[in-house]
Amino acid sequence: MAMMRRKLVAGNWKMNGLQKDRDFLSALVDAHPDAPAADVLLCPPATLLSAMASAKPDWLMLGGQDCAQTQSGAHTGDISAAMLADLGCSHVIVGHSERRSDHGEGDALVRAKAEAALEAGLVPIICVGETLQQRESGEAEAVVVSQLRASTPECDAGAVVIAYEPVWAIGTGRTASPEDAQAMHAALRTAWPGADSDLLRILYGGSMNPGNAEALLSQSDVDGGLIGGASLKPDQFASIIRTLR
Ligand code: PEP
Repeated sequence: MAMMRRKLVAGNWKMNGLQKDRDFLSALVDAHPDAPAADVLLCPPATLLSAMASAKPDWLMLGGQDCAQTQSGAHTGDISAAMLADLGCSHVIVGHSERRSDHGEGDALVRAKAEAALEAGLVPIICVGETLQQRESGEAEAVVVSQLRASTPECDAGAVVIAYEPVWAIGTGRTASPEDAQAMHAALRTAWPGADSDLLRILYGGSMNPGNAEALLSQSDVDGGLIGGASLKPDQFASIIRTLR
């Protein structure tokens, strides 16, 4: 039985954003005076979360870009899921390809971080995706399914979000074709170990912008987007949200 999954548009600001960029919120509210038809999440840098939590519209959810695998302790520089929840976050991205490559994070650590997120009451957005070389050698689906299995805790499908982000599409201006994205999302749904895969939300990420969002987001297994560059510009982010009206 096919389930209706509410779409989720999530912005990932990465290491961008200063105090002055809080203006983004008023521009977003001007573009969407009423609650949008989709769930909308913004993941600014941790330094802006507190200020944004007190200035954001009710319909906008906030998330972290990473969390530690434990909730507190002697881990200088790390931010725990409990701390993010304490600031009013509902979600946290884990296993983004930039963390996997820049910080050497592997599937086991990503899974531990996702478990810490669940324990703190957050929804982890668990990122998976193949490199260009893996796609060209025909391994994309096997790589991505293996990352899903090894990076995801045992839990209900509704407790997590998966983001399919082909590494070669992140920040490059290249996107997966809507057909390739749909095929990978369907493969991920099939690989979900539980019987509740109809409830699993799978986002596409990789150079999504107002020009390609509609074609990607209209695929039946694409349940939303994880958006980097275009989420820094309120008009572009708003325009992507509007494609879901
Ligand atoms: C991302 O950071 O998750 C991302 C998809 O970035 P971009 O949209 O800039 O490719």
